[in-house]
Amino acid sequence: MAQHFLLSAKARTLSLAAIMRMSDDEAHARFRAIRWADNGGDPFCPRCGSLTIYTYAARRIFKCRDCQHQFSVTSGTIFASRKLPIRDYLAAIAIFVNAVKGISALQLGRDLDVQYRTAFVLAHKLREAVGAVQMQGQLSGEVEVDGAYFGGHSKPENVKADRKDRRLVDEQTGKRQVVVVARERGGRTLPFIVQKEAQGVPLVRSVILPGSVVHADEASSWEALHAHYDVRRINHSVAYSVDGVSTNQAESFFSRLRRAELGQHHHISGKYLAFYAREMAWREDRRRQPNGDLHAAMTGAALAHPVSRAWAGYWQMTQRLSSKV
Ligand SMILES: [Zn+2]
Repeated sequence: MAQHFLLSAKARTLSLAAIMRMSDDEAHARFRAIRWADNGGDPFCPRCGSLTIYTYAARRIFKCRDCQHQFSVTSGTIFASRKLPIRDYLAAIAIFVNAVKGISALQLGRDLDVQYRTAFVLAHKLREAVGAVQMQGQLSGEVEVDGAYFGGHSKPENVKADRKDRRLVDEQTGKRQVVVVARERGGRTLPFIVQKEAQGVPLVRSVILPGSVVHADEASSWEALHAHYDVRRINHSVAYSVDGVSTNQAESFFSRLRRAELGQHHHISGKYLAFYAREMAWREDRRRQPNGDLHAAMTGAALAHPVSRAWAGYWQMTQRLSSKV
């Protein structure tokens, strides 16, 4: 029997122990090599692009000779105004990529020995960075589309006579949302968050190139796609796959997101669902890449991503808002 990829030696090219043994200089050099990979690891000015940069022996700071701009290896990135040593961010990313079903902020905080809120914001910054990479580009060839409900679970009443139709209740609270996904076979997975599956039609149309073959189930929402693509329908009440027509790869993505929701996060707040969906899509598409490659890819995404508007100063902001109430 073929060995599962994650059990093979090829899947393990990253060592958390080796990261934790890194000196500050080694960790800094690693960030430099990844951030400025296009320039052989040598810094260039983030403001004017100049390659003439002063370095200082005593401080890890750079200065542009042309525009005088001073910068560090993390300024202008998602790690700007960082609080932790660089080695800790490398370790956080290692823990994060090794968690194939995602990782809760509580667990990440314990592993790193940092406060819950530090881990919460850090994990969301990583999700934002890889999510931005994930959502680039369009799909072609054979593309599967599907939708599934996530979030907004209400507890059933103890006594059966008191129980209501929970699907109805969850829908009424507005917390229950639909993740619509377009997944290219052998390609990428692009998720969208909507209230009703039909609202996903223009979104999947915006990413699936004309000329593609689209696979969808029998749900009436997808009728609207027939005018634009060669659409193959599979009736799930009859079979999951007939003559190569299926949405099984879309379902695989949903099951990974479902396992993350139920097994790690327990509850995903509606406003963050898009971040989790993109993170799980990123993981799903890279499930057969060695973890060392994933670590480099996630670090690269974080160092190429601008300061987060959503997460920079997140806790200060929420404290200010809550103190006004
Ligand atoms: Zn400059």
